[in-house]
Amino acid sequence: MGNGNVVSVVTIGTIAYDSIQTPFGETDCIAGGSALHFASSASFFTSVGIVAPVGEDFDVCELSFLRERNVDLSGVEVLNGRTFRWKGRYGYDLNTAITLETSLNVLKDFKPHLPESYRYADFIFLANVDPELQSCAIDQIKNREAYVALDTMDFWIESKRDALMEVIKRVDMIVVNEAELRQISMEYNLLKGAKKILSMGPKTVVVKRGEYGILMVNDEEVFLCPAYPLEEVFDPTGAGDTFAGGLIGYLSNVGSVSNQTLKQAAIMGCVMASFNVEDFGAKRMKSLTHKEIKERYSLFKKCVEFSDLKL
Ligand code: AMP
Repeated sequence: MGNGNVVSVVTIGTIAYDSIQTPFGETDCIAGGSALHFASSASFFTSVGIVAPVGEDFDVCELSFLRERNVDLSGVEVLNGRTFRWKGRYGYDLNTAITLETSLNVLKDFKPHLPESYRYADFIFLANVDPELQSCAIDQIKNREAYVALDTMDFWIESKRDALMEVIKRVDMIVVNEAELRQISMEYNLLKGAKKILSMGPKTVVVKRGEYGILMVNDEEVFLCPAYPLEEVFDPTGAGDTFAGGLIGYLSNVGSVSNQTLKQAAIMGCVMASFNVEDFGAKRMKSLTHKEIKERYSLFKKCVEFSDLKL
């Protein structure tokens, strides 16, 4: 599907039909998936290519908004069978998704194949998908300097723990939520858990904490920021992936992974996630503009800025 352009960021993940229930409404079979949400965000900052399978039942028009934002879809494969489906529910605690049903469908037989033009990308985001597929994608990277980030979830931590531990050793950054961090590290304390994961190989650990923001830890720094304060959160699905899209997209845009840019990128991730949760699925990302992103980044900065003590 698509042209096979040279891209700066490649994501390997899912394209899904999601059925979501929140306290504010429900929706059946809307386009989602980790790769789709990531690309909907990262494409505001950089050129993105997607590697993911869809089934014959998938309406490719669902991806036209990404195509319009120059996302390369040559890594999207149409396979025999049905598209991956996820059914989830959120209670009034919008920070925790309860999985009601996961139907792997075409994901069961999928082996990622990175088009040749993707193999030299500078950033790879291994979105939430089977860790064996994440490893298989890393094997195909030809840019030795590529910066690789990984996300995962309880489903894979429980069912493919060994494979996950192997792939964690091979990445530069891991982006997980609090529960996932605890499950991987077997530590309750987030800082201890993050440090344990650092000892496994990654240089930076980013912990997504829903409405409480993020914690970012590496050997030099511990960085904390809140989520952007919103009065109404409608649907948190995709918040984690749009966060990662803002983070990796921004890093790719500035072409540097210093502690300074990592912090700006984390704030940009929070900004992008805050837009995504304003409507069901990826709907808000379709109408979003660069002007709105810049305005919210400035407002965010004001919310977290304070001056030095005069004591
Ligand atoms: P998040 O950004 O963490 O809210 O991720 C939301 C997306 O994850 C949804 O659009 C789902 O389709 C997708 N998803 C749910 N379960 C899985 C799974 N086991 N593997 C990969 N993707 C999943």
